[in-house]
Amino acid sequence: MSSTNRRVFLMTVAAGTSALAATQNLALAAEPELQDTDPQATALGYNKDTTKIDAKKYPKHTVAQHCSDCQLFQPMGAAATGHCPLFAGKLVHTNGWCSAWTKKA
Ligand code: SF4
Repeated sequence: MSSTNRRVFLMTVAAGTSALAATQNLALAAEPELQDTDPQATALGYNKDTTKIDAKKYPKHTVAQHCSDCQLFQPMGAAATGHCPLFAGKLVHTNGWCSAWTKKA
């Protein structure tokens, strides 16, 4: 490989890597955090703070239950939010809770 071809190859790889990183950042930035007032959140009793769950409405809930120890929670590294298949396109808080909570096996 000539030095010109090598330079073009390296520039192409660098440009592709930058474009991929930018796309991933946009994808992360485009996902809003689920709000307690979201109709779907309200339907499942979601709150981003498990200590604020209505004990009368959800008597089986305890403050020890939260998204981060739910079977459905998909963490994103050390981030305070992660994915939940029940709320596609939005992020749930690690300290959140909803009525579909199931203890992680
Ligand atoms: Fe959180 Fe689990 Fe409810 Fe999803 S199903 S919002 S991870 S408690």
